[in-house]
Amino acid sequence: MQVNGIEELLTKAKAAVSNCYCPYSGFHVTAVIEDENGGLHSGVNVENSSYGLAICAERAAVFSAVTRGQKKFRRILIYSPDGEPLPCGACRQVLAEFCDDDFPVILATPHSIKHYTLAELFPLRFKVGFTPDK
Ligand code: ZN
Repeated sequence: MQVNGIEELLTKAKAAVSNCYCPYSGFHVTAVIEDENGGLHSGVNVENSSYGLAICAERAAVFSAVTRGQKKFRRILIYSPDGEPLPCGACRQVLAEFCDDDFPVILATPHSIKHYTLAELFPLRFKVGFTPDK
């Protein structure tokens, strides 16, 4: 249930861009996830000279929310001023841990806003005990 538009999420996501740490890719990404109570939790991408240690903005936002005791979410907005911020496979799996197939994933740039569901981005998710029909 969305209680308002995405303006608040977008404003918060844009405000966090300056906190991104992405000296290697130069690709700034922020994410704001809204919990079931309307609380907003931000994340930014944080890269590392040992590339595999980097964390994406989406996972940073989810982990921040979980750290604060939130595990049910309404939607996430992912923003980049540098291009369309499609979430990587790891982030899609992390979202799938907490969110249903119809969970809204909003991708924003300064020039576009696109709405997806988690199932559109991550069909046939991995889940313990889940067996896809084949
Ligand atoms: Zn990712």
